[in-house]
Amino acid sequence: MSRKRIIIDMDEVLADVIPKFTALYKKYFGKDLKPEDYAGKKIYDLPGAAHIRNHLHDPGFFLDLPVMPHAQEVVRWLVGHYDVYVATSAMEFPNSLSDKYQWLRREFPFIPWRNLIFCGSKEILSGDYMIDDHVSNVEKFGGKALLYTASHNLHETRFTRVNNWPEVRAFFERELEREKRGA
Ligand SMILES: [Mg+2]
Repeated sequence: MSRKRIIIDMDEVLADVIPKFTALYKKYFGKDLKPEDYAGKKIYDLPGAAHIRNHLHDPGFFLDLPVMPHAQEVVRWLVGHYDVYVATSAMEFPNSLSDKYQWLRREFPFIPWRNLIFCGSKEILSGDYMIDDHVSNVEKFGGKALLYTASHNLHETRFTRVNNWPEVRAFFERELEREKRGA
């Protein structure tokens, strides 16, 4: 049987962009944000903060993002059982493409370059599973979608939710077990 395909998002799934945005917010507004300050939204959706999103154009913005806790070990485990692809939007902010490529090769060297997809819309992607924090991506996906918890999707209830990478592993352990039973 051919292996099933998982499509994994980068920002706010593999890579944590929140520290950069909270630092930028502090730079412009002098305030340390707490998660409850931006629950249900993105930091650049806070009043007066829309211009912070322009920093996504900055060369280097995506080059040194922290890796989400346990993402490397869990993705490495997934690669042993599934065809794993990383699909990340890069065309709205084209400077991000080189940064993201370098980041993924450095932090996830066990994912071959053929399995890295830098895209515009993710609607064109097909696979068995998608892990993404954006409702607009998971709701158009033809397979099983896992919504990775982020501040802006906290109120969404339509999708299977994963809060962290150990939960991702637990989900796929159940899937593999279920397939082994032929269910
Ligand atoms: Mg994302």
